[in-house]
Amino acid sequence: MSERFFIEYPPKAAEVTFDEAESQHLAKVMRANLGDVVVGFDGKGTEYQIELTTIGKKKVVGTVRSQAEVSREASRRLTLAVALPKGDRQRWLVEKCVELGVTRLVPLLTKRGVAQPVEKAIERLRRAVVEASKQCERNHLMVVEQGQSLEEVFASRPAASYLLHPSGEAIHHDAIVPAKEVLAIIGPEGGFTDEEVAEAAEHGCQIVSLGPRILRVETAALAIATLVTALPGP
Ligand code: SAH
Repeated sequence: MSERFFIEYPPKAAEVTFDEAESQHLAKVMRANLGDVVVGFDGKGTEYQIELTTIGKKKVVGTVRSQAEVSREASRRLTLAVALPKGDRQRWLVEKCVELGVTRLVPLLTKRGVAQPVEKAIERLRRAVVEASKQCERNHLMVVEQGQSLEEVFASRPAASYLLHPSGEAIHHDAIVPAKEVLAIIGPEGGFTDEEVAEAAEHGCQIVSLGPRILRVETAALAIATLVTALPGP
């Protein structure tokens, strides 16, 4: 069975009980059989080979046969602080960020932002992280933070920090390659205000452009994520 199953709590003993959603998926969708060996992951870096020992419609139990730390993380840590678009575009962005290896996603509160990252929406996005991680075989869950203001984002920024802005300077690879950690800040469809851009520069962020076209929020986020995660690591 090539599917992967999420185990929220790393098993303390050899026995693993899958939660209701994963149990239903195993029992009803995958029609798992006793003795089948499936892959589980805990989102903290460990992968498990699990032999199924009980199959109920709502509760599937198995025994861990082996486990290993398997990292499929990108070449460096990347935090994206993004003024999220609305609805389905949010979920799509999260899924692609997980695939590309983004470490943390911070829903950014800006002057011209449209989506308010309420608790329920954040929970939905965290669920989307699990689904995407199952599919792309990533073993560390991308962290989705609560909404933060620019000031909060600046407070913990790494040396290599970029605010993306259409009229910024061309971005240089040379500064990214030696960085273990990068922060990229992406604005809403209405863009950052002049004050927000000035504030970012005062806090030491580089104001950078990805070219002369205006990109959607998702495109800008994925373009910088691709660049930062694809460059060779430090
Ligand atoms: N009219 C707005 C466009 C906003 S596009 C403006 O002029 O700022 C939404 C966000 O995507 C921007 O705030 C920026 O962070 C990012 N973005 C879009 N196109 C970009 C480009 N060519 N270079 C860098 N960032 C870009």
